[in-house]
Amino acid sequence: VAKRLEKFKTTIFTQMSSLAIKHGAINLGQGFPNFDGPDFVKEAAIQAIKDGKNQYARGYGVPDLNSAIAERFKKDTGLVVDPEKEVTVTSGCTEAIAATILGLINPGDEVIVFAPFYDSYEATLSMAGAKIKCITLKPPNFSIPIDELKSIVSKNTRAILMNTPHNPTGKMFTAEELGKITSLCIENDILVFSDEVYDKLSFEMDHISIASLPGMFDRTVTLNSLGKTFSLTGWKIGWAIAPPHLTWGIRQAHSYLTFATSTPMQHAAAAALRAPDSYYDELKRDYNAKKAILVDGLKSVGFRVYPSSGTYFVVVDHTPFGLENDIAFCEYLIKEVGVVAIPTSVFYLNPEEGKNLVRFTFCKDEGTLRSAVERMKEKL
Ligand code: GLN
Repeated sequence: VAKRLEKFKTTIFTQMSSLAIKHGAINLGQGFPNFDGPDFVKEAAIQAIKDGKNQYARGYGVPDLNSAIAERFKKDTGLVVDPEKEVTVTSGCTEAIAATILGLINPGDEVIVFAPFYDSYEATLSMAGAKIKCITLKPPNFSIPIDELKSIVSKNTRAILMNTPHNPTGKMFTAEELGKITSLCIENDILVFSDEVYDKLSFEMDHISIASLPGMFDRTVTLNSLGKTFSLTGWKIGWAIAPPHLTWGIRQAHSYLTFATSTPMQHAAAAALRAPDSYYDELKRDYNAKKAILVDGLKSVGFRVYPSSGTYFVVVDHTPFGLENDIAFCEYLIKEVGVVAIPTSVFYLNPEEGKNLVRFTFCKDEGTLRSAVERMKEKL
């Protein structure tokens, strides 16, 4: 393996999902729903295949999807973007993140991330030769230490890569925090790459796209996808919204990474994004119920559960159960209890910082969530 990837192991999600299968454990680890996406979206995909929409798509997205993304973005943020010049469709948000980093970051540029961070960030920054600067968000609130953030900005800082609602903690960046990041970026000419794939799963407060704050659109890449909102994580449809001067770099990287994304799925994605508001309301209602089952259950088992405002994840402190760290706890949980969670130490530059925390997901049917809680109550 090339040096730039030497330090990375098999992703934790792959590791944990295969252990779940091996031990017959209930998988509250990898974030994928165990229920299916809506029929109208699946039917749109079947129709597109039958209609012969099966050859290469236009590189930066089929026109109807670019338009549907722009319409959705306007509804969500009030921003009017040009679907032809400011929207790029990618194979999942993970590719959008990679195309953004590879298309806009030079070797040696500094990029700031907030730990715990999604695992692809570090690997992709490493592939681009970027220098990672890291700020840690600490429990119980995981709020942004603004002074510390200011102190690591240098003349080489090119971008901040952020994520709200935040995986794994469920933290949502507040208007005040986003305002402070905005001032910092404008004063120091820093770009923002904002991963917002959980934007429709915001429960305790309203999601704010940093691109919509004054002065920010011109320096922001907003990254999103279909998977979480439509319970279709295997479709791998993502996108990047950015002003033309940034879109150019993103599209150049995308052209040579994957060239184009699955054509029929893009047509179906356009239909999905035009879902009525009631779809999104129902999604939130369903997830609120699931979240209550898991959070109340974890509390009754004896975990300290940290507040999660968005995403379909919650983070807990496992130390009441006496295992030495998050990895040991997750191993015990799989083998002795039959439940899978994700150890969070893999989401930190310094793994020590995550040793007390594990992540559970509630993107599972209510019966599964209840059984997992029952197993933990019995055996932990
Ligand atoms: N985003 C999902 C999670 O955090 C996992 C995606 C993956 O398996 N790479 O659980």
